[in-house]
Amino acid sequence: MIIINPNVAVDLLSICGVPVQSNVPLTAVSSWRVGGRAKILVKPQTEEEVIALRKYISKHQLPSLIIGNTTNLLFADCNIDAIFMQIGSGFSQVKLSGSTILAKAGVWVPKLARLALQAGLTGIEHTCGIPGTLGGLVVMNGGSQRKGIGDSIVYVKTIDANGNTKIYSREECRFDYRSSIFQKLDEVIVEVKLQLESVANKKIMHNEMLAILRSRSAKFPRKIPNCGSVFVSNPAIYKQSGAPGKVIEECGLKGVIKGGAQISKDHANFIVNTGTATASDILYLIHVVRNEVYKKTGCIMKVEPKYIDRFGNIQEI
Ligand SMILES: Cc1cc2nc3c(=O)[nH]c(=O)nc-3n(C[C@H](O)[C@H](O)[C@H](O)COP(=O)(O)OP(=O)(O)OC[C@H]3O[C@@H](n4cnc5c(N)ncnc54)[C@H](O)[C@@H]3O)c2cc1C
Repeated sequence: MIIINPNVAVDLLSICGVPVQSNVPLTAVSSWRVGGRAKILVKPQTEEEVIALRKYISKHQLPSLIIGNTTNLLFADCNIDAIFMQIGSGFSQVKLSGSTILAKAGVWVPKLARLALQAGLTGIEHTCGIPGTLGGLVVMNGGSQRKGIGDSIVYVKTIDANGNTKIYSREECRFDYRSSIFQKLDEVIVEVKLQLESVANKKIMHNEMLAILRSRSAKFPRKIPNCGSVFVSNPAIYKQSGAPGKVIEECGLKGVIKGGAQISKDHANFIVNTGTATASDILYLIHVVRNEVYKKTGCIMKVEPKYIDRFGNIQEI
């Protein structure tokens, strides 16, 4: 078991040149506002900094974790002994050329969707309400309206654990419903090239995006910490009983509370933190939902957010 000692923070600052924070409360960082403390949090702003960080981490065999905006992550309640590398707002340049967009992985997804609209490019309007980074979206093959970002990708550029740069074509990314090859690789996505199409009427596209945003804000809980949909829609359950939210509601679970966590009264496929939730409260509710839905349908629902354990390992829930 490797424990990160205080010298690591000093090394990271002097060798990699990245600002370093130690013992950061994850309640301030995480979308669900739960979790213990992150031992070290660094926010690289360039590919060179990512390469230096990865080489240092690999040389010293330290536990590490890549995060974006944490909107798909559930952090353990204990302190997490790992170096958190956050690819976010410092890593968000975007270049437009014809109908292609070359974007750094930290770009805010709603901002990217807006830039595409301004440039008259269609293809990613379905992502306009997703509160994450482009890197996180690619890892999850996130999207809405039954679409995924994978449909628009030309290539994804990553940096592997030894600091080597790699390029993945769309086929090599193996996109599937809310999944991609990057969920199995320990590689930092740094850049993404997207192929969009010129739109004939920007006004119609704008109205479509507004309709998506309106429908989301009518359906989803607002201003209460959450991680979006908790359960992935399962085709077998969908055919038999409908979307996860409907099935959970029919099990009588809407509004059920455990500690500070609650199955949302607005949308039963969301679990919200009403103020004092812990990761254990959320895991408990996930367990209850899974059991009840299994009893009703005979199917086990897959959970979309990933759990981060005390060493920064990413686990399926
Ligand atoms: C209110 C709300 C609504 C949502 N609606 C939707 C929706 O409509 N559709 C949808 O698909 N999702 C939705 N989500 C879930 C979530 O926003 C998406 O999955 C999002 O794409 C995750 O991005 P992130 O930056 O927050 O990634 P994180 O949650 O930080 O990370 C997700 C995964 O990606 C990895 N990762 C992140 N960045 C990188 C990188 N640069 N390189 C390598 N790995 C990386 C992490 O290790 C982790 O495994 C919603 C969430 C919320 C809170």
